[in-house]
Amino acid sequence: MLSIKNLQASIGEKQILKGLNLEVKAGEIHAIMGPNGSGKSTLASVLAGREDYEVTGGEVSFQGKDLLELSPEERAREGIFLAFQYPIEIPGVSTTNFLKTAVNEIRKSRGQEPLDAVQFLKRMKEKMKLVHIDQALLSRSLNEGFSGGEKKRNEIFQMAMLEPKLAILDETDSGLDIDALRIVAEGVNQLRTKENATIVVTHYQRLLDYIVPDFVHVLYQGRIVKSGTKELAMELEEKGYDWIKDEVSV
Ligand code: ADP
Ligand code: MG
Ligand code: MG
Repeated sequence: MLSIKNLQASIGEKQILKGLNLEVKAGEIHAIMGPNGSGKSTLASVLAGREDYEVTGGEVSFQGKDLLELSPEERAREGIFLAFQYPIEIPGVSTTNFLKTAVNEIRKSRGQEPLDAVQFLKRMKEKMKLVHIDQALLSRSLNEGFSGGEKKRNEIFQMAMLEPKLAILDETDSGLDIDALRIVAEGVNQLRTKENATIVVTHYQRLLDYIVPDFVHVLYQGRIVKSGTKELAMELEEKGYDWIKDEVSV
């Protein structure tokens, strides 16, 4: 589904990704871990096509297409969903209205008929049940005055509604309490199918107590320097990152 080869990217003059390789197949959950400042959020942003990042080398193909050629909107339409570290607030626009537009834009670009009010409501109800979100939250302005947990639940609900092929979740260590972690994890587990894939970016092993990834990668100094299974995450929890740094510098 996703193939990243020798990806290099910078912000301004500073090179952050320095030859990153990663292969993600449909049905898989990948966790990306690594010390602060390694480039984890940069990778997520580059995949989503955020403009402040300049790709200076390498290739990214998504379902056989050159992802780097596509605008952020086109990437979203192709089925890439990025849950941001700091979700945006949109005063005056409810989650429901935001999603109605987003869902139908995606359908339109795929040559599908828009969902009418009844169909949309049906999908809302199904997904609300799936991710345990309250109706009241959906009629409030998007993210305005939401608690950390509410933002997370909302993010997972958006993901459920948009049915992405590849979801990228960038979870900062800060501000995520155990409830928020559970919400994210439950959502990812509920939404898992054989056709979609998830990349979970996390600083903490804790999240992986709830989401069982198929693969765990360590991103350090702009490259993936080690890959393994969930045992690697447990090893990191126990030993920290210093041994990886030592291995890399040898
Ligand atoms: P991580 O998510 O792994 O903590 P980031 O991708 O956020 O790492 O950051 C990687 C490096 O890029 C860090 O050294 C950080 O200071 C730098 N960086 C991130 N965003 C910017 C920016 N907007 N301008 C300049 N440097 C940045
Ligand atoms: Mg960071
Ligand atoms: Mg980060």
